[in-house]
Amino acid sequence: MNRRNFMIAAAAVVAVPMLASRLRARESVAVAEGSGGKFALSDAEWRDKLSALQYRILREEGTERAWTSDLLKEKREGTYHCVGCDQALFTSETKYDSRTGWPSFFDVIDGAVGTRRDFKLVLPRTEYHCSRCGGHHGHVFNDGPKPTGLRYCNNGAVLRFAPTAD
Ligand SMILES: [Zn+2]
Repeated sequence: MNRRNFMIAAAAVVAVPMLASRLRARESVAVAEGSGGKFALSDAEWRDKLSALQYRILREEGTERAWTSDLLKEKREGTYHCVGCDQALFTSETKYDSRTGWPSFFDVIDGAVGTRRDFKLVLPRTEYHCSRCGGHHGHVFNDGPKPTGLRYCNNGAVLRFAPTAD
């Protein structure tokens, strides 16, 4: 191998892995920023980010006291976001007054929550949580209004309302 060919071969040995790692870096950024990407924090980071009440609800499946949420009175157009990761969970078009003391919705934004049966009470209930950060939000019951017949009973303390800009 002459000197020129050696230099070309050496450059290729260096350049190919660099290119590959640059591609990998771009992929991981896409996962972190994309709407379908998971959002994960350490327990210390969650405690830092959330109030004590929000932590108890999102991370320990706690429940706020009925009639304590300011969002019960919220009637403007907009979206309701998870305070854990800011994913939009509900739109104002699906909000209704369930008279239960918790903000209630008859539908959820597609893909925004996952559900699981829970047996904390004697009767099984369906727990639901944010599909992005896994934070617990409330329970879904089948005594809601048409067209779904569902009632997503959500803790207001873990929702952030974003009014539609007019
Ligand atoms: Zn979330």
